[in-house]
Amino acid sequence: MNTPSIKQIEFIAKLKDERDITPEMRGLVPKTSQEASLMITTFLACAKKSQPASGVWAEVQDRLALIPTGRYAVPAEDVQRLFPSATNVLSGNDHLFLKVYRYKQRLYMVRLYGSVGDFRTERIKPATQLALAALVRPRALELSQLFGTLFRVCGRCAAPLTDPESRRLSLGPDCRQVFGL
Ligand SMILES: [Zn+2]
Repeated sequence: MNTPSIKQIEFIAKLKDERDITPEMRGLVPKTSQEASLMITTFLACAKKSQPASGVWAEVQDRLALIPTGRYAVPAEDVQRLFPSATNVLSGNDHLFLKVYRYKQRLYMVRLYGSVGDFRTERIKPATQLALAALVRPRALELSQLFGTLFRVCGRCAAPLTDPESRRLSLGPDCRQVFGL
């Protein structure tokens, strides 16, 4: 039986460090190179541990924390004003649709395309996220309601609106509380 190679041992140590693996798996020591390669395959299938945000991403976290998670529609003219040198920034669309959400303690802002029930998302560069977060912050309620009005759903969570008051506000009962309504 072959013993594990130095390369395998080193790679396993690195994976134990960076992957989200169980304490039992972390305690395993391969006796053969076959065991080592099986461990490597198993560890590679484990998700990476989330690192604390640093630099511009930490700034993005701070800015996104200032606006409620939810959906926002930003009129094209506001986007154009924010990025005056960008041409055809929305490829002819009259609004930019954004979603701010939390996943594993981290906040994200993505662009939404398509329609309710079938939205596709696109990443946004951190510098652009910072600018958009600054634009949305003082107008969060208005821009969330605009999303709701345009898609005829709750502007924050995109659920159907089932009563007249929710339809009037374009926000469902729980979501309007988030905006203090
Ligand atoms: Zn809602």
